[in-house]
Amino acid sequence: MPESKLYIIRSIQSMGDTRILKLFPEDGKSIGFLPGQFINLFKIDDKALTRAYSIASPPSWPYLELAIQIIGGKFTSYLDTLKVGDKIGVMGPFGKNEYKGGKKAVMIAGGIGITPMMGMIRHIAEKRIQGDFRLYYFAKQMSNTAYVSELMSYSSQGIIKADFRFTREESLPFSKERIDIEKVIAELDDFKQYEFYLCGPVAMVNSFSDVLISKGIAKEQIKADAFG
Ligand SMILES: Cc1cc2nc3c(=O)[nH]c(=O)nc-3n(C[C@H](O)[C@H](O)[C@H](O)COP(=O)(O)OP(=O)(O)OC[C@H]3O[C@@H](n4cnc5c(N)ncnc54)[C@H](O)[C@@H]3O)c2cc1C
Repeated sequence: MPESKLYIIRSIQSMGDTRILKLFPEDGKSIGFLPGQFINLFKIDDKALTRAYSIASPPSWPYLELAIQIIGGKFTSYLDTLKVGDKIGVMGPFGKNEYKGGKKAVMIAGGIGITPMMGMIRHIAEKRIQGDFRLYYFAKQMSNTAYVSELMSYSSQGIIKADFRFTREESLPFSKERIDIEKVIAELDDFKQYEFYLCGPVAMVNSFSDVLISKGIAKEQIKADAFG
């Protein structure tokens, strides 16, 4: 059941136009959620001003971590005025694209669409879940792209297989090439056994979903969120 409560902002880290927020529950009891779910943030004195944000932290952490791209829209302009110590409303959890412990998954994230994958990957790392977890993460450039070094560390520990693409800037050894979903599938043994998590620009999410469905992957195995 979704809950609604106040959280206190304890940390704000800036990376280019992204803000990584750590939110602690005012009453010390964090809302329960599954990796990959999202909450709605709302302005305390104007509950109608609300937006959805995926949770980048795993359920075990005492705080919610969110990574939010400030685009100058209504909510992100308000968010950018908040300081450490300020309070914000949280309602949730929401979303049916959560990770439930599967052992074979392909995650494809574009830009800020990495947030639900972070919640899942951190959970997989923490619980030492053994399996085949493949992350494809594309962004414009390596600098100011959230979570790259943490993900590289999971990759070097063998927790995930990570493939980074930086499409607007040469960032050796990483490729600038766009992700080709046909090639992603071709690299999998028995691709119908995998769950596919897609999060990023709407065009990518829709076109990749269409290809996966055309290959015979069941709709229930495709978990897609379009933003970023
Ligand atoms: C399930 C879900 C999870 C999400 N998780 C995240 C997340 O983890 N991180 C994250 O950053 N976002 C996430 N989002 C997107 C988020 O909910 C907001 O849509 C986003 O932060 C923009 O809100 P806003 O009020 O600032 O923009 P709005 O005012 O709502 O503007 C909407 C659109 O108008 C355009 N627009 C408005 N102002 C400008 C401007 N100045 N410059 C350029 N374009 C503009 C943009 O296309 C923008 O998307 C998620 C969305 C969903 C549905």
